[in-house]
Amino acid sequence: MKHTPKIIKVSGPAVQAGNMFGCFMGEVVRAGKDKLIGEIIRIEGDTAIVQVYEDTIGLKAGDPVERTGELLSVELGPGLLGGIFDGIQRPLPGLAEHWGDFIHRGALIHRLDREKKWAFKPVVKPGDAVEYGFVIGTVQESEHILHKIMVPEGMKGVVKTVAEGDLAISDIVAVLQDGTEIKMRQRWNIREPRPRSERLPLMVPMITGQRAVDTLFPVAEGGAAIIPGGFGTGKTVLEQTIAKYAQADVIIYIGCGERGNEMADTLHQLTKLKDPHTGKLLLERTILIANTSNMPVAAREASIYTGVTIAEYYRDMGYRVAMLADSTSRWAEALREISSRLEEIPGEEGYPTYLASRIGTFYERAGRARIQGRDQETGSITVIGAVSPPGGDFSEPVTQASLRMASTFWELDYELAYQRHFPAINWRTSFSLAYPRMMAWYREKVGGEWPEMIGRTHAILQREEELSEVLKIVGADAMEDRERADLEAARLIREGYLRQSAVHPTDAYCSIKRQEKMLSLFLEYIDAMLKAVERGMSMDEIAKSPLVERLLRLKEISEESLGEEITDFRAGLKHFFESINR
Ligand code: ADP
Ligand code: MG
Repeated sequence: MKHTPKIIKVSGPAVQAGNMFGCFMGEVVRAGKDKLIGEIIRIEGDTAIVQVYEDTIGLKAGDPVERTGELLSVELGPGLLGGIFDGIQRPLPGLAEHWGDFIHRGALIHRLDREKKWAFKPVVKPGDAVEYGFVIGTVQESEHILHKIMVPEGMKGVVKTVAEGDLAISDIVAVLQDGTEIKMRQRWNIREPRPRSERLPLMVPMITGQRAVDTLFPVAEGGAAIIPGGFGTGKTVLEQTIAKYAQADVIIYIGCGERGNEMADTLHQLTKLKDPHTGKLLLERTILIANTSNMPVAAREASIYTGVTIAEYYRDMGYRVAMLADSTSRWAEALREISSRLEEIPGEEGYPTYLASRIGTFYERAGRARIQGRDQETGSITVIGAVSPPGGDFSEPVTQASLRMASTFWELDYELAYQRHFPAINWRTSFSLAYPRMMAWYREKVGGEWPEMIGRTHAILQREEELSEVLKIVGADAMEDRERADLEAARLIREGYLRQSAVHPTDAYCSIKRQEKMLSLFLEYIDAMLKAVERGMSMDEIAKSPLVERLLRLKEISEESLGEEITDFRAGLKHFFESINR
């Protein structure tokens, strides 16, 4: 008995265990009498440091440790969609105020429902040769998602028998000639990316229905965007809005270290809302992973990997997955806390020295790719990570390391949020490096004029920036009409176009076609106004026009009436400027 593994020391989530000879990195262990779930993160001789995913209160030196011989992995199979899980994929039931209360410590809950029967339809037949990634059969997981049951890693051979009909996830769907049994469910180590056959260039945007995003700073399908912003600047609302409206097949939403009531709110919104693209409940395409601030810190560290592994699994079925993480800073803080418990040498601002490489390996798992085993098919993972830098200081390590990995950057601005200009995306500092490569798509799908329209929009905003200094000194009244017109142009773009309500029934989602129609009309009005001013019309006269109010309200006009309003507005535009011309 002297050599049985036991606890030597407990420091928060970091637990030192002795007599661990033969254990391996990443091995899952059960610590203490309650069998708390943990993972080996460091080995020195025959002692191991275990990161425990549950509250370690009551755990003490001398308590037993059990090895499992397994890596920390997620269970993959039908039943993930609509699921709500904690950071190590234990199901969290329903809408809870206090998530933590629902899982007893050490509870080994099956990740997915073992009882539920799914109508399995075979794709292969006896005699077919299969290997990793080949589809054995399908299950209609939700109305719009056909779940592909794929050959797990390490299995290869010729199909001997294949099942059909109502089966549970632990049932065998196929047997290979060498006796290998393939089940509907499989497992995957969360720390290891699922392989992809070939990375593909990112040339198509993931449309979000948010004008400031899709028009000015789009994120590519398979790309990564980060949302740095101080407290209250709208990160969570933007993540939620994208979860609701983004053109993606599957949404993985990770609530990471944020308040429990915010997570409950996200869940509530997704439960009651219908998908604008399919008319189905949003939860049917969504998987929620919640590790709120009151839940154990180590599971927060794992939640990001749990989420991205599930994302990869749906990517491998050929879907476009959007993965939203709110907030990656809270995740980095979990890393920092664990690191300090391990007494590692701290790097910048106390974060571990491997912070940047961890952030890097996470974002690396985004992308658009050919699928391993099925080269003709593609799938993608688009990652959108909120970053909450303390004090809104973007020079801090988490923002900087994320910035190196993301090609799209939506910087949320205190000043804009204070003015209740939402989404508070700062158009001066935000950028999308992916945009140039996606221009061909915009030209083809949205309109040939698009690149010029975007150039024009940026120029208008830029001009306002230049004039703002003059404005401060002399005041609007002392400015030339031409300059006042430039300022008015920028105001219209800001107020009427970029500003978008996340709660208005019509405005919350704006299709890319509608964005084009709206922006065209704004630019038409602006051109007409500038020309009129050049011809000597005064801005005081122009300000009397009822057209401005109509332009500002364009975003609230229902889809059905939009065409008519635009036609009518154009007629009014012509009439107004011509009438004054005389
Ligand atoms: P953060 O997550 O950055 O702390 P939140 O996303 O919680 O900030 O936003 C704070 C508040 O700002 C929200 O409760 C809401 O009132 C307002 N807000 C943010 N974005 C929008 C939006 N797009 N439309 C309307 N209100 C918004
Ligand atoms: Mg928030």
